[in-house]
Amino acid sequence: MYTFNPGPSQVYPQVRQYLQDAFDEGWLSAPHRGERFTGLMRQTVAELKNKLNVPQDYTVFFMNSATECWEVLTQSLTPRKSFHLYSGAFGEKWYDYAKALRPATIGIPFGPDELPDVTTLPLPDQEIDLVCITQNETSNATQLRDGFILNLYNRLGNSLLAVDATSSLGGIQMKYIKADIWYASVQKCFGLPAGLSLMLLSPRAVDRFRQINERSHYNSLTAQYEKMLNYQTTHTPNVLGIYLLSRVLQDREPIKTVHQHLQERATKLYDYFEQATQLSPLSPTPRPAPPPLWACKARPPSSTT
Ligand SMILES: *Cc1c(COP(=O)(O)O)cnc(C)c1O
Repeated sequence: MYTFNPGPSQVYPQVRQYLQDAFDEGWLSAPHRGERFTGLMRQTVAELKNKLNVPQDYTVFFMNSATECWEVLTQSLTPRKSFHLYSGAFGEKWYDYAKALRPATIGIPFGPDELPDVTTLPLPDQEIDLVCITQNETSNATQLRDGFILNLYNRLGNSLLAVDATSSLGGIQMKYIKADIWYASVQKCFGLPAGLSLMLLSPRAVDRFRQINERSHYNSLTAQYEKMLNYQTTHTPNVLGIYLLSRVLQDREPIKTVHQHLQERATKLYDYFEQATQLSPLSPTPRPAPPPLWACKARPPSSTT
């Protein structure tokens, strides 16, 4: 069965067994300052980097949702303002949350069938702490691809580049070195129940938040960093979610294989709709387009001659 919701995705069938194992192995009452839990964290971070090809020098944090990541990025990495480029509801929401906390924040919308020209953007700008994009805009199933992200990255100046990859991280292969912050929650491309998100940060991003040193929130990046040095968290974490993630990662193929599988499935879906139905993609972005989430509208019947 395929689902066409913007999320959550259908969980992997293996989750049933993982849940049973989590209970039987005592994870649901494992103390989060103990060696057993920190060992799980260490192993989950290592497996994540290994299976997803995340650079070894990137730092990994666990949070509770992508929405929490939006807020934390403003609180801990945006003393002045951020700049948001968005084409749909998730990107716009991120902009709204950021602007509520930092009124100088700038947003530029673009159409789902447009690709912004980076040379026309107000970059670089010393006053912009964070440039924010949504890699896979789940609300309209459009992607910003590697080439665009690279062009943007080359115009950053001193700003950091933050990427919402909630519905693509874990599903497609991404060039992590071409942005400073990537985050996602696990109910999309990891096939897991909601309530856990992960954030990947470049050494440049880590230096920046340590320099800013914001400590007024329990989930500030500085506080999380200090705990994570010992594979701990600032609060009692979602141990079950982290355990499930570790199991899924262990059982998964490397990202290259998953990526290819999703591309093939997308191609099949597009071919099916093209050949067997009157439907055509809402967004005319070139194929191969994203993965499990697909938007379509009626296409006028082709004239028969
Ligand atoms: C689903 C989604 C979110 C929100 O995720 P939560 O875990 O519910 O906070 C944010 N951004 C994108 C692109 C999404 O697809």
